[in-house]
Amino acid sequence: MLQKSGRLFRIFGIDIRLHFSWYFIALLIAWSLSAAFFPTLLPGKTVTTYWIMGVTAALLLFVSVVLHELSHSLVAKAKNIGVESITLFFFGGVAGITKEDMKPADEFQMAIAGPLFSLLLSGLFYLLHIAVGNDVVGAITQYLYELNFILALFNLVPGYPLDGGRAFRAILYWKYKDLRKATYIAAQGGKFFAGVLIVLGIFGLFTGVGPGLWFILLGGFLYFIAGMSYEQVVMKEILNKIPVKQLIESRIPVIRPETKFSELVRKYAGSDEEIFLVRGGGFEGLLDTHRVEKMPSKLQEVTSVKQLARPFSQLKPLSKTADAYTAFRQLSEQNLEALPVLEKGKFLGIVMKRRVMRQLIWRAKYG
Ligand SMILES: [Zn+2]
Repeated sequence: MLQKSGRLFRIFGIDIRLHFSWYFIALLIAWSLSAAFFPTLLPGKTVTTYWIMGVTAALLLFVSVVLHELSHSLVAKAKNIGVESITLFFFGGVAGITKEDMKPADEFQMAIAGPLFSLLLSGLFYLLHIAVGNDVVGAITQYLYELNFILALFNLVPGYPLDGGRAFRAILYWKYKDLRKATYIAAQGGKFFAGVLIVLGIFGLFTGVGPGLWFILLGGFLYFIAGMSYEQVVMKEILNKIPVKQLIESRIPVIRPETKFSELVRKYAGSDEEIFLVRGGGFEGLLDTHRVEKMPSKLQEVTSVKQLARPFSQLKPLSKTADAYTAFRQLSEQNLEALPVLEKGKFLGIVMKRRVMRQLIWRAKYG
């Protein structure tokens, strides 16, 4: 889901990315503002005026959300926690944070910074609203102070993964010193709130009060993410304890780079081998047959395994001292089935995703 986004701009060394859903939502917001909200609030203007107001308000709402997210990231940066990117969704953003383990106090401050900034923005728009009175600018600032206030309140709900839930988890983590337990409780909060949203949404659909469908969608999304966040923590906890050393498979077939693919097919067609070490003449790489596309036999005769292999220099090899969680993350990030393990440039073997997953399932089930 996160992949379906495009980079918008870069600020303070952070990529601001837009999730594709944002374009659709931004249009919907501008439309509902110019067709309903502003005509009700400020009757007697032209359609063009309402559209200009709607688009301006939608853009400023977008700026508000970006500022909310940036305030999280700037606190993170101040704590030396790397933030690579922010992806903006329809109701907020997701920060790509590079550090894995955060101190509770850091996470708390980071989480709370966003809602506090939204409150500040709400206050500023309110003052502006009072200063300019009740015309076009007054109506736009009214919308913005209301929305920033709602954004702050919504994000302060103590349900993971909302900001309030992150702050709540940080407090629980500080109290229990147990990230799994803290995440479990905070995620239950998130699921409970999601349930409340869904019930309110259904109620809204039947009575015509409030944005029923939005509540149901938002609640469903939140419920899903809350569950996933907990599973991720459990997975991380299990895999963190398994050293890569235990997962290395060192007996994989070695092939010379100039070997033609047709030869490999003839030799290994009936075997279980899927991944090969291609080595010789200064070349070292992995050939994953899952990644080789269907090929006419004529082409197989002229294609060398070197052409099909990924050289180690293009991969992010693992070190023997890494843990299985690092391995899993690198495999997922690079979308690979196997990664080489190197020690001072020397090939020790490979770690396969399948094996990591098998370990995970075994330990999750049987401890
Ligand atoms: Zn936030």
